[in-house]
Amino acid sequence: MGRLGSAIMKQQQSSGPIDARGRIDAALAEVAAYQGQRQGQGRGGLLVLADTLADAERLVDAGATHFLIAPRGAGEVVLALRAAGALTERRSPEARAEGRGEAAALHRWLAGRLQAHQPCAAVAIALSRLDLVNAAHGRARADAAIATAGERIAAAAGERAIVVRTGDRFLLGVEDGDLRLLAAALSRALEVEGTRVMLGSRIGVAEAMPGDDADALIRRATDALDDARAPGAAAVQVAEADGVASPDRLAIDLHHAVAAGEIDVLFQPQVEIATGRIVGVEALARWTHGRLGPLGADALFAAADRADLGLALSDHIQELTLARAAAWPRSLGALRLSLNLTAADVARAGFARTFLDRVDASGFPRGRLTVEVTESGMIHELDHAAALLAELRGAGCRVAIDDFGTGYSSLAYLKALPLDYLKLDKALVVDIAGAPRDRVVVRGVIDIARALGIAVIAEGVETPAQLALLTAEGCGWYQGFLRAGPLGEDALVTMVEGR
Ligand code: C2E
Ligand code: CA
Ligand code: CA
Repeated sequence: MGRLGSAIMKQQQSSGPIDARGRIDAALAEVAAYQGQRQGQGRGGLLVLADTLADAERLVDAGATHFLIAPRGAGEVVLALRAAGALTERRSPEARAEGRGEAAALHRWLAGRLQAHQPCAAVAIALSRLDLVNAAHGRARADAAIATAGERIAAAAGERAIVVRTGDRFLLGVEDGDLRLLAAALSRALEVEGTRVMLGSRIGVAEAMPGDDADALIRRATDALDDARAPGAAAVQVAEADGVASPDRLAIDLHHAVAAGEIDVLFQPQVEIATGRIVGVEALARWTHGRLGPLGADALFAAADRADLGLALSDHIQELTLARAAAWPRSLGALRLSLNLTAADVARAGFARTFLDRVDASGFPRGRLTVEVTESGMIHELDHAAALLAELRGAGCRVAIDDFGTGYSSLAYLKALPLDYLKLDKALVVDIAGAPRDRVVVRGVIDIARALGIAVIAEGVETPAQLALLTAEGCGWYQGFLRAGPLGEDALVTMVEGR
């Protein structure tokens, strides 16, 4: 680090660099502090040295303009510093004035409405992980997709709105903060040069409050966006022969997976204990990765979260599942179908309507459909979740609470939510064959559910002993490897007909 270190020191006063290698948190704070100064003084670019692309991305989010990943010598750093300086100079007169001009237009628009005491809101939209989109589709196609996204945003925002773009962000002034149109416009995949491109997005919105000025409103919207982008990205670790597939790599691959037909759905039988009959199935998503082979649902959803494609993926899986089930042969015609909803689905404004339209369009009867939601999917905004579930029930679907017994306030959910089924989590099913104390808990849950008129279905039943104990406690249905794991349609038909 000797020569490199001294080259860094010399430059430290002007435009960095900030060395984040092995000290990412401290470096993030430094970038933020530098950013604050820079706004005051109109200073130039900021170079950071990072260990990984993921770190570099966080630093760029915090305000760095240039990065080097694991530089090997002082020469590289000096060159990068020169580029950072040159770019700032090149950009300063025209490009920055143009940026300022657009921002000023937004500013004027908001200020005008605020002065006239008309309702308005500022919206900040960030397209997520464009590095992944670039890597998946190439720069030119990614740029075309971003431009199309911009057009969609403008169309969804309507005529009485203003849209300004800065890099991967869009800033809007709108008359009201209804994000349904915007969110819907962005969650649909784009067609670019005959290829399906999916862009993830995060949205921050701030509605005008008494005493607001345009600056405050824009700042609140960008702060809200930062909240929406807070880390929480799940780590995906998929073992492969030569080590581990990087989470970023999977997230890039996911961009192609839908178009390539790699996403599929399997059906796991649900059995009525009294008769041993298969009365329904739960749809479970699978990703058959071109290189890595079959991946589980957990890897699939973690990759989707990372690429901010959760909603797009969820839409796709629901459509695929309903289409499959609507075309089932006659022998499966009496089965119920259970679909998993994600927490993001539940939180979506107007989701019940969207979902019911999708069901009706598929031709699968509402009356044979169950949706499964987890407690963690409803922890925020219980009222909203309850209203959604009530609407789906009112429309003829049934509702199940999934993974019951893994959360913290389970009994409160049972009381507050309109439910048809409770799915007893695997962990409780394992418990039932264990110590007498564990059994007491399972017995209690089943008793309470029964008293509330909620049917109980046990998940993850693997042994005859577990089944016998569940039966003795009054559990009505089960699902698990004891009968069958998730099956393809042919295997399902064979199993149902062969009974
Ligand atoms: P889940 O809804 O609790 O699904 C049950 C999981 O338990 C499935 O894992 C299933 O394969 C597994 N399983 C079934 N029987 C047994 C058993 O006897 N023993 C054990 N040890 N495991 C059993 P899978 O398919 O990997 O799904 C994991 C989770 O991913 C699901 O948990 C669900 O939360 C989510 N998921 C799966 N498919 C979808 C989907 O299409 N949409 C949504 N939104 N979520 C999905
Ligand atoms: Ca489930
Ligand atoms: Ca479950």
